[in-house]
Amino acid sequence: MKGLMQDWPLTVDRIIEHAARWDGDREIVSRAIEPDAAAAITRTSYAAIRARAAKLSSALAALGIRPGDRVATLGWNTARHLECWFGIMGMGAVCHTLNPRLFREQLRFIIADAGDRIILADPVFAPLLAELVPSVEHVVILSDEAHAERQTLPGALAYETLLEQAGAPVPWGEFDEDSACALCYTSGTTGHPKGVLYSHRSTLIHMWMTLQPDVLGLSIRDVVLPIVPMYHANAWGIPLSAAAVGCKLVLPGARLDGASLHELIEAEGVTFAAAVPTVWLALLQHLEQTGGKLSRLRRVLVGGSACPETVIRRLREHGVETVQGWGMTETSPIGTHSKLLPTIAALPFEEQLPTRLKQGRPPFGIDLRLRDADDRTVPHDGKTLGRLQVRGPVVAAGYLNGAGGNVLDAEGWFDTGDIAHIDAQGYMQIVDRAKDVVKSGGEWVSSVEIENIAASHPKAALCAVIGVPDEKWGERPLLVVQLRPGTSATPAEMLDVLAERISKWWMPDRVVFIEEMPLGATGKIDKKALRLLVPA
Ligand code: ADP
Repeated sequence: MKGLMQDWPLTVDRIIEHAARWDGDREIVSRAIEPDAAAAITRTSYAAIRARAAKLSSALAALGIRPGDRVATLGWNTARHLECWFGIMGMGAVCHTLNPRLFREQLRFIIADAGDRIILADPVFAPLLAELVPSVEHVVILSDEAHAERQTLPGALAYETLLEQAGAPVPWGEFDEDSACALCYTSGTTGHPKGVLYSHRSTLIHMWMTLQPDVLGLSIRDVVLPIVPMYHANAWGIPLSAAAVGCKLVLPGARLDGASLHELIEAEGVTFAAAVPTVWLALLQHLEQTGGKLSRLRRVLVGGSACPETVIRRLREHGVETVQGWGMTETSPIGTHSKLLPTIAALPFEEQLPTRLKQGRPPFGIDLRLRDADDRTVPHDGKTLGRLQVRGPVVAAGYLNGAGGNVLDAEGWFDTGDIAHIDAQGYMQIVDRAKDVVKSGGEWVSSVEIENIAASHPKAALCAVIGVPDEKWGERPLLVVQLRPGTSATPAEMLDVLAERISKWWMPDRVVFIEEMPLGATGKIDKKALRLLVPA
């Protein structure tokens, strides 16, 4: 027997329709990205974003875009970028967020692989596009005529002009909720980038999943700052979650340094923010240098790579609670969160820390399991390692154009390529990426754990552990350290912080200091590049 409820396809346009109707005047603040605007603050609202997104849909239709076509964006987190999301997805086209930090060849490859027909780009990316000569029909610069960058890109269109000239509205929604709405490529830390194609339905389900109090737990009284770029797994879905809740949203534009972020957080009264660990380390360093405070910030989400203990401790000194999330482009992306069970929340902070350092438990909508080399399930004892696999309505079932072949096993599980353990209370901890594991004498050494402890050294800015070939043990860990500006340290000093906290055979054989840690396209330490940089 069929239920008797209304047919209401789960499509992304409904999010902004609701925000515009019920929270239409709530502020969306963004930092301008035009080179001559000196990063000025601009203000708009959900109602204005909705109206302008609708105009963009008409303009795109006039340029020949139809439902199912791919339209790319190449932009920082701004209100215009958010308009692009809703304008593209609302009319049933697919929004492909390009990551400007990818290598040129990777960008060329993914634009062609996706079949992008139009690229909407910030003015600052005009030289990059001129160099790429992408195989698209139009480039639209996300600004006005004065910033259309026609010296660099002769045929470029100006976004504001397109909106001004937009004709009759085109319908929004009215398509199947399983239609594609967004496309995001894995950043290629482990091989060629592959396209993950989200559906409207999976995107709405993910949005509701993240709104649980234990995940993002956003409220209409929050002021939300997604620092994580909109091209990095859709800024972890945060702009959509904020719009659904109707809360004030702050978008940092291109300025992601500690000083600019601090200024924005304080001036706009940000209560919740999300970013990768390297961003938090830079902000904390800025606060220490200037004596700055975080007066309204209460909660942050840290993910993308393991959250170092020092981030949790130092943010706590500012009255900020850190929640760690684990996920990947293929999981939409939030897969686990580290919120505390009541029994752990009742413990003193120091005793909570080991749990807070874990990547956490899955929210409803995600299931996890660990498999050993013989494809048997691994016990949840907090120490036995296995390959982490995931399943659920927000997990990819394959990649665009069949890249990578069949990625699900017979029972529908997706192998994440992460090595982890799960404890008796269900907290999962990532030990390494399968590609990054250091195997010494046949046993796994957790580079993540060594990095985390080393990063607590007061002089360390960033730490990474890589494996180097060793005749006797196969591989041995090597610690690479970028020191804080103006400090110097000896290898022995760095090893001292580890000595009491890890077993002897995990101790790195060598410590190498480098000026600047190579960061990948999503702000994580790029171990592939590091291996080339540091002599074995
Ligand atoms: P890419 O795969 O291109 O690096 P993703 O952002 O999708 O881009 O990366 C997902 C991977 O990042 C995960 O498989 C995992 O290895 C790592 N990761 C994400 N969050 C965490 C976390 N909190 N702790 C440790 N590793 C993490």
